[in-house]
Amino acid sequence: MTTELADKKAKQLNVDVVIFGGGVAGLWLLTRLRQAGYQTLLLENKALGAGQTRFSQGIIHGGTKYALTGKLTASSESIFAMPKIWRDCLQGKGEVDLSSANILSEYQYMWSTPGLLSRLSGFFASRVVRGRMQAIKKEEYPVAFQYKKFKGKVYRLDEPVLDAASVVDALAKPHLNNIMQINSMTGFSDKKLRVESVNGDSWDISATKIILSAGKGNAELLRTMGQATPEMQLRPLQMVMLRGGLPDKLYAHCLGASVNPRITITSGEDRQGNIVWYLGGQLAEDGIRRTREEQINEAKKELRSLMPWLNFEFIEWATLNIDRAEPKQKEGQRPATSFYYEKDNIITTWPTKLALAPNLANDVVNELEKQNIKKSGTTKLPDFIHAVVADLPWQEEEQWSH
Ligand SMILES: Cc1cc2nc3c(=O)[nH]c(=O)nc-3n(C[C@H](O)[C@H](O)[C@H](O)COP(=O)(O)OP(=O)(O)OC[C@H]3O[C@@H](n4cnc5c(N)ncnc54)[C@H](O)[C@@H]3O)c2cc1C
Repeated sequence: MTTELADKKAKQLNVDVVIFGGGVAGLWLLTRLRQAGYQTLLLENKALGAGQTRFSQGIIHGGTKYALTGKLTASSESIFAMPKIWRDCLQGKGEVDLSSANILSEYQYMWSTPGLLSRLSGFFASRVVRGRMQAIKKEEYPVAFQYKKFKGKVYRLDEPVLDAASVVDALAKPHLNNIMQINSMTGFSDKKLRVESVNGDSWDISATKIILSAGKGNAELLRTMGQATPEMQLRPLQMVMLRGGLPDKLYAHCLGASVNPRITITSGEDRQGNIVWYLGGQLAEDGIRRTREEQINEAKKELRSLMPWLNFEFIEWATLNIDRAEPKQKEGQRPATSFYYEKDNIITTWPTKLALAPNLANDVVNELEKQNIKKSGTTKLPDFIHAVVADLPWQEEEQWSH
């Protein structure tokens, strides 16, 4: 649908690039585009990170999962470079400055039952895995495995785990003057957009390129702009959270009968300082067919069978439903790479993983450079209302229960 722009009172703004969506993809792009000299404005309609980014487990995957499933292709190899790129940024010497972001754990761990380990011994010795993953000594085990009853083995993966909200904060902070909080897009014609800011002001924004980094919101934006492609797929998850009486924070995948992690545990802290375990993996994928109560019962069953040495009696539980938004794949498979697609000066993006945001930004910046898109510099934009950073899911108290 193309809408006429007729409001004479609308304020005018000209930029080189306008980005919809302040998740990890939009914010990483905003940084890279401004560094390259493009006058860029980002529009957010909820709060920064409020889409998938704040729900993410924050693992900066290095491709171990692809290696495990044997689905290692040339294109999926781009993920191998990600931990190093992120670590450089976290040390303040990378392409974006993440030195103020919180590293929750330097490594993600992996544990398994003895039976499965013997079947995978060839894999653990393989060239792909060497250097990315190593068996660790008992003294180095995370606290949750330092129990006599634990008979498996623990591996350390070269995959840092980050506090997603702090990443959003670090990315947004230097660019707040270029981030506008909007209610909605109210008009669109060719290269011009009309948006309503949160204080009711109308803005007419002209841009050479429009980038959609709105996650699940991309589909609606594409429809409003009269675009039929690219198509989006949603992969729903029911994640589980637990808190109270946990031995320590834990960042670990558990390998089950298949090589897809049976459960992936990461950790956070609620406002009272309680440790929270956040559970994803197969449990969350299968969980979409269960009610909240059924999913909590399944999580209890899984944890009791995987960690029988721990006591989960006095623990509080919560679940949350969230969709992963991605470019449509054959039979709804997971995409292996980040994605961008351009038509009519509209570039639609899905990083498909938090970890791949640098890769996506690189591809888009290279594309604009190739097209010789005008760079108007990075002077200050007029004043408008800026967006704020969203909370992490466990900081919302509404859904916890015993
Ligand atoms: C439960 C879960 C766990 C995950 N764990 C990991 C992990 O451990 N490691 C990893 O690498 N990846 C992980 N991912 C994937 C990763 O979180 C996503 O790929 C990534 O966060 C997507 O970022 P994004 O910026 O594209 O989208 P989003 O984070 O969804 O951001 C989109 C933004 O656009 C805004 N928006 C929407 N519509 C509009 C509009 N019309 N106008 C303006 N703004 C709009 C939203 O409010 C939001 O702020 C996980 C995903 C989920 C759901």
